Amino acid sequence: MRALETVLGSVAPEEVRICLPHEHFNVHGPNEASIGIRDHALAVLVPQLEELRERYDCNALVECTSVASNGRDLETYAAIARQARFHVIASTGFFLYERTSWWMKDASVQELAERWTREARQGMDGTGIRPGVLKGASGMEIGDPGRPHHAEVRTWFEALARTHHATGLPITTHASGPASWPQFAALTECGVPPRAIAVGHADFQGSVENLLPVLDHGGYVLHNFCGGFQPRPFDAAIQLIKALIDRGYTNQLLISVDVVYSAGRRCDMLTRTGATGETPPWLRDYRHIFTHVIPRLEEMGVTPAQIRQLFHCNPKAHLCGPW
Ligand SMILES: [Zn+2]
Repeated sequence: MRALETVLGSVAPEEVRICLPHEHFNVHGPNEASIGIRDHALAVLVPQLEELRERYDCNALVECTSVASNGRDLETYAAIARQARFHVIASTGFFLYERTSWWMKDASVQELAERWTREARQGMDGTGIRPGVLKGASGMEIGDPGRPHHAEVRTWFEALARTHHATGLPITTHASGPASWPQFAALTECGVPPRAIAVGHADFQGSVENLLPVLDHGGYVLHNFCGGFQPRPFDAAIQLIKALIDRGYTNQLLISVDVVYSAGRRCDMLTRTGATGETPPWLRDYRHIFTHVIPRLEEMGVTPAQIRQLFHCNPKAHLCGPW
């Protein structure tokens, strides 16, 4: 297993216990002044992460905000990690076409791969903080040459693959719509080993059958409960996980909340939470896996060994290999 790169430096895989494989801090929302945001983020996030560590044996998460313009704030992540004594793994790469910076839309495979490789070796956004994972996002345009932006998104996935070969970093994705297989195929056609790839948003894939090609070729499927930005049918998400466990894919499933703590939502978080006295269901927090998901899986007969595999073993195996 390779060492895990966190915002505070490399750690040995054995130091990581449960790891949430796809979350966000997203500290700086667009069009906001940054004054006070770091303090607010620390006040909200540090107690949650301390509780994860002390109560639930979870001491790591992957921060999947992969571009600075979407709110990646590495120095705040480092402050959060230091205060909460929590391993935070940052990411680099690209997000959906509509949310991508203008310069990336004209960039070549080589230019992007060189940039991301440099970030992996020297640090991102003017800091010495290096990514522990590469992130890509797309809809169905990745697999359909007839759709707008196919060529650009294809270029970006090729650049991710080239960066993987240069750095050894694993790849995680956001798939809008049933794009998990075309994303996986784009990466494996460029030589990325299947076990270095986690395709995200199983909840967008529509059915078990849409996920089987990725699983049968050895990749990971990542389930997001989408805590921070819109509600998802909880039971459908749980049933999908259980169906895949029953078919023997326990070793290839990753499960996370996909919380988007955003300074842009801070007023909502404060007033709505304050008004009801508890966090509303659509605004779940990082503890959701432990307060809702694991108890429901246990009720459905998922064994302690399977729970351990899902939450202790799989995230580390995807992040650290061997592939
Ligand atoms: Zn996400």
